[in-house]
Amino acid sequence: MSTPTSDGKMDLDVGNVEQAVSTGALPGWDDVESHVGAAYERYRSHQAGVVADYIPALAEADPEAFGITVAEVNGELHPAGTASAVFSIQSIAKAFVYALVCEALGHDGVRDRVGVNNTGLAFNSVIAIELNDGHPMNPMVNAGAMATTAMIPGATAAEQWEQIRSGLSRFAGRQLELDGGVYRSEMLTNQRNRAIAALLESYGRIHIDPLEVVDVYTRQCSLLVDSRDLAVMGATLADGGVNPLTQQRVVSAGVCRDTLSVLAATGMYERSGEWLFEIGLPAKSGVAGGIVAVAPGKGAIGTYSPRLDSAGNSVRGQRATAYLSRTLGLNLFASNAYSEQGSDQQ
Ligand code: GLN
Repeated sequence: MSTPTSDGKMDLDVGNVEQAVSTGALPGWDDVESHVGAAYERYRSHQAGVVADYIPALAEADPEAFGITVAEVNGELHPAGTASAVFSIQSIAKAFVYALVCEALGHDGVRDRVGVNNTGLAFNSVIAIELNDGHPMNPMVNAGAMATTAMIPGATAAEQWEQIRSGLSRFAGRQLELDGGVYRSEMLTNQRNRAIAALLESYGRIHIDPLEVVDVYTRQCSLLVDSRDLAVMGATLADGGVNPLTQQRVVSAGVCRDTLSVLAATGMYERSGEWLFEIGLPAKSGVAGGIVAVAPGKGAIGTYSPRLDSAGNSVRGQRATAYLSRTLGLNLFASNAYSEQGSDQQ
């Protein structure tokens, strides 16, 4: 049994034992292609959910847009629908900024300053900060994400922003651009994020100007991506940190493992448990309508559809990812009995 240490962290006593890796393979190219096409056809006419409008510029999104891309770790891409429709990455940036900070500061350096547990509360919750004496519990919601952004190396906010933009671009395998309209729109309406940053400063959790942290955070949320970018970014996390298109190492394999475990616990806001139960994959969503789901060692699914459920997760994106998790055999918790091996593997 593991025993809690005085600071509440688990003491697992595994030492420096080497971490072996065991995953599996995707079905063949033709099967992946046809399942992606089937997912698109199955959900393309679904109308449930509403487009986010609390950031005014997001309300301008085409509610019909629906793109899916599966990226394999060998670099093969399987797009369907409006796979190259662009949208702002929003909260999905949190996953990749977290990975960059873990790469720069190391597992323990980040772990000591931002927790890895789900708050169980909405992504812009202030109560979650107060309930934990100002210690941000979850790097995938706004408080923890702003604390993480503040840790990005750089002497100025401009340098930090450049680190984030170039780092996320390395994950995507192409230079990502800022959507100035979305950025300005959010900066005019993000009083709550400013309050969260000020609260973090009051608890001594960030040591630089909180308004500058909000500015860099809002920029990272406003980077433009399409479903293909999300799939490639996710496939980099699935590929031990090497971008399958550029073959460039972006982060270490250990950072990918740490990031994906945080995503599994927290990536879908307060619905993360339900998501893991139904889909069985680490994932992250954003309020513009993107979702990335990662199958370690295999690849990733990027989806875009702007109609959201009440937690801020894309309805068609969740459905398409659930369908592909099942048909491509991606659920990390699924197994078949040894005695039945050779029969249908799902
Ligand atoms: N920029 C958004 C915000 O801070 C991101 C939120 C999200 O995607 N859930 O409100």
